[in-house]
Amino acid sequence: MLTINNLHASIDGKEILRGLNLQVNPGEVHAIMGPNGSGKSTTASVLAGKPEYEITGGEIIFQGENLNGMAPENRAAEGIFLAFQYPVEIKGVSNINFLKTAVNEIRAYHGLEPMPAKEFLNRIKEKQELVQFSNDLAKRSLNEGFSGGEKKRNEIFQLAMLEPKLAILDETDSGLDIDALRIVAHGVNSLRSKDNAFIIITHYQRLLEYIEPDFVHVLYNGRIVKSGTKELALELEEKGYDWLKSESRDYI
Ligand code: ADP
Ligand code: MG
Ligand code: MG
Repeated sequence: MLTINNLHASIDGKEILRGLNLQVNPGEVHAIMGPNGSGKSTTASVLAGKPEYEITGGEIIFQGENLNGMAPENRAAEGIFLAFQYPVEIKGVSNINFLKTAVNEIRAYHGLEPMPAKEFLNRIKEKQELVQFSNDLAKRSLNEGFSGGEKKRNEIFQLAMLEPKLAILDETDSGLDIDALRIVAHGVNSLRSKDNAFIIITHYQRLLEYIEPDFVHVLYNGRIVKSGTKELALELEEKGYDWLKSESRDYI
């Protein structure tokens, strides 16, 4: 589904990603961990196509297509979903209208008519139950007056509504209490299928107790310096990241 080859990316002329490699297949959940400033959010932003980032080398192939140069909205329509680390508020746009626009833009891209109203409302109902969202939260202005936990649940609600092929969650767990964490994890676990994939960026191992990843990668200085299974996350929790400096001397 996704192949990242020797990716180099910069912002403001500063190189952040320095030869990142990653392969994600359908049905897989990959966790990316790493210390602050290692380039986790940059990786997510570059995948989503945020224009501030410049790809200076390497390639990103998504479903056989090179993403370098593809506009962010087309990437979204192709099935890439990025849940932001700090979800934005948009006054005057209800959550539901935002989603209706997003769903129908994706359909239009694939040459489909807008989703019939009844089907859309049924989907809203089904998916809001998944994240335990009240009608009030679904109808309110996008994220306006939402608590931190409600915003995070809203990200999963949006994800559920848009049914992306590749969902990238950037620190969706930061600042969540245990109940909200469980709701978020339950949402993700229910949405996992053999056809989609997740990249879960997290600073802590805690989320991975609830969402079991197939692979765990450590990003350090703009490269993946170590990959393993979920046991690697436990090891990182225990030892921190400093030991990787010596293990990955060639990289630094
Ligand atoms: P992480 O998510 O792993 O904590 P980031 O990808 O946010 O790391 O940041 C990686 C590096 O890029 C950091 O050194 C950060 O200061 C730098 N960086 C991020 N955004 C910008 C920006 N807009 N301008 C300059 N440097 C940036
Ligand atoms: Mg950070
Ligand atoms: Mg970050």
